[in-house]
Amino acid sequence: MSIKKIDKEYVANTYGRFDLQIDHGNGAYVYDNEGKEYIDLSSGIAVNTFGMCDPVWIKAVEAQLHKCQHTSNLYYSEPCATLAKMLCERTGAKKVFFGNSGAEANECAIKVARLWASESKGEDYYHIVTLKNSFHGRTITTLAATGQDVFHKYFNPLTEGFVYAEANNLESVEKAFKENKCCAIVMELVQGEGGVLPLNRDFVEGVSLLCQKYNNLLVIDEVQTGNGRCGTLYAYQSYGISPDVVSTAKGLAGGLPIGACLMFDKTESTLKPSLHGSTFGGNPIACAGAISVIERIDDTLLSEVKEKSKYIFDTLSGADGIKSVSGLGLMIGIETEGDVSVILSKCMEKGILPIKAKNKLRLLPPLNIPFELLKSSIEIIKEVAKDNK
Ligand SMILES: *Cc1c(COP(=O)(O)O)cnc(C)c1O
Repeated sequence: MSIKKIDKEYVANTYGRFDLQIDHGNGAYVYDNEGKEYIDLSSGIAVNTFGMCDPVWIKAVEAQLHKCQHTSNLYYSEPCATLAKMLCERTGAKKVFFGNSGAEANECAIKVARLWASESKGEDYYHIVTLKNSFHGRTITTLAATGQDVFHKYFNPLTEGFVYAEANNLESVEKAFKENKCCAIVMELVQGEGGVLPLNRDFVEGVSLLCQKYNNLLVIDEVQTGNGRCGTLYAYQSYGISPDVVSTAKGLAGGLPIGACLMFDKTESTLKPSLHGSTFGGNPIACAGAISVIERIDDTLLSEVKEKSKYIFDTLSGADGIKSVSGLGLMIGIETEGDVSVILSKCMEKGILPIKAKNKLRLLPPLNIPFELLKSSIEIIKEVAKDNK
């Protein structure tokens, strides 16, 4: 039986998979089970920060594999402590809690917000504002945080206490703060699953001021935008705001499951013994991968990300068959005149692998994709968009 058949028969039917079986890869190249070569433009949805089987990353992960693959959180372990220190030094955060996914990082952020409220505002200040068209995860609580009705259907009752405001509409946020007993707003700075839509800078600054005015926490979901993806280590660092909590995951460990919740001055002492935990959280292998990734996200790499981003915007904006280009850094959404699914499958035929976000083509290439490969990919997208408008 083919792998595709076995998968269809035995794996839960939750994913609409492309008709493509990835076998292996090397940097920005991936190969299917028949050896056909593709340029990877999605990095496993912003996960493989340095592409497939990066040798530096492999060395770091492998060394840890030979030392200790897991220990319980009842003991100290070096990779977890080192990674937390690095993240704090690079962001100004004071404490880090590690989990295994984006949804768990957000669950932690939500628990921190409610804990903080019960200590400083009162237990009834449990409401959390999130934005319409956002995405925060698939657990019952992070689904409730996700401001899109389509995700809520069938799963009610969801966790209570989420209020949705309009993105880029300060009045809507202020109304939500005024009319509910709130403790926080949680938002992505670039709505990824929602269509790669960056929030306006004025709006983000305004939300930050409203958080001060209403004594609410500013929680930034950097699960997708973080770890160099947007041209700064975390996207908030380019928005000139000081969040109280930052969640991240996807690209942090370069391809291993990890989630992290960063707590800043106001929130650093909310989590106390027995209030939260995770068996796998802070896993030494995942942390060793993440240390290697964070070490390499330096100014040189970040300026390359910005340069590549500018190249994509400059080349595709206004091109024949392309309606708009949106995003930040190497998190890019492309609105095409022709049907996006048709364009996507033509791209795959021609050996490049973008994905979709809503009605857009989405690019999340490895941050270190060689310029030449990026250029030839963008030429293919340009040509396909023009021929299929
Ligand atoms: C992917 C994503 C999540 C969920 O992460 P998982 O690891 O799938 O749980 C949450 N928030 C944002 C912004 C994401 O892009």
